[in-house]
Amino acid sequence: MARKVLTLAEVRDGSLRNVSFEAIAAAKTIAEGGEVVSVLVGDQVAAHANELIYRGADRVVVVEHPNLTFYTSDGYSQAVKAVIDKEQPEGIVFGHTALGKDLSPKLAIKLDAGLVSDVIAVEEAGGNIVFTRPIYSGKAFEKKIVTSGILFATVRPNNIAPLERDESRTGSVETLAVEIKDLRAIIKEVVRKTAEGVDLTEAKVIVAGGRGVKSAEGFQPLKELAEVLGGAVGASRGACDAGYCDYSLQIGQTGKVVTPDLYIACGISGAIQHLAGMSNSKVIVAINKDPEANIFKVADYGIVGDLFEVVPLLTEEFKKL
Ligand code: FAD
Repeated sequence: MARKVLTLAEVRDGSLRNVSFEAIAAAKTIAEGGEVVSVLVGDQVAAHANELIYRGADRVVVVEHPNLTFYTSDGYSQAVKAVIDKEQPEGIVFGHTALGKDLSPKLAIKLDAGLVSDVIAVEEAGGNIVFTRPIYSGKAFEKKIVTSGILFATVRPNNIAPLERDESRTGSVETLAVEIKDLRAIIKEVVRKTAEGVDLTEAKVIVAGGRGVKSAEGFQPLKELAEVLGGAVGASRGACDAGYCDYSLQIGQTGKVVTPDLYIACGISGAIQHLAGMSNSKVIVAINKDPEANIFKVADYGIVGDLFEVVPLLTEEFKKL
């Protein structure tokens, strides 16, 4: 059954986030040959419209307003709701990001729609669109279908392969004027805690440190390895609680959920709450001096040794490549 499916594109620091392209790929499967329309919301974001078309969108609807410079659930829900009212889609896909997690339930409830969140795979089976999502902190997976209203989904970053970029793709770009008003809060400025480095949730490589890193300075060799690999630095809660790094780096059940191509865990024991945030990484390398550490049970490659010896050796070797 051909459907019209919207996706919400996300712009951060002047660039489209990768999850915007992954949402388009998911929407293509849901659309089953129907139209995929990407929605670009913000202030002065129209320049990104063509990129969404190159990544598979058939059409782009842009909503620009000075009150949309920063995300607020009030402002963005007015903008996206106006597009939904105009387009009357059968489905809408968001990234499973802070923005998508906040906005999608707010809109789904308004529209009496079913929402499947944190989706890692989408397929058509037996006439239904079937969503797969992890449950019980990643220990099991469930398959879900939406039976009522517009089909809402949020897709976990780094799980659904985006379409190949193709500059020969064409599509129309339209602007929808929406009056964004009666906002209960207006964000004047966003001050970042961690200004530098690659975004953890989108990083292809993560070098993460745990309590075994022993101090804030102990993270330096991990930062160097991450830099050589073009990756980001993450941490266990143990390391954050000990004050070695900021909580914005925490990975796990109560931190960020990440799925990089390569996850290097250094001095992390592998508590179930940590695994909940990283066990879906494509390749896991664990460095731990305790051969019995739980992290080795999920690791594809294990190095039993002192991280302060192993990590600099890895950095030196990768520098040679
Ligand atoms: P430890 O368990 O102390 O492990 C340190 C490891 O470093 C050990 O395995 C040791 O062998 C190794 N080591 C020491 N020195 C070296 C060295 N020189 N070289 C190599 N290896 C070395 N944790 C998370 O990470 N994320 C979460 O989101 C999270 N949420 C939680 C939510 C709840 C409700 C609860 C109860 C707990 C949560 N935790 C979370 C905490 C979790 O249970 C663990 O306490 C935590 O993950 C342990 O961190 P760690 O592995 O760094 O420390």
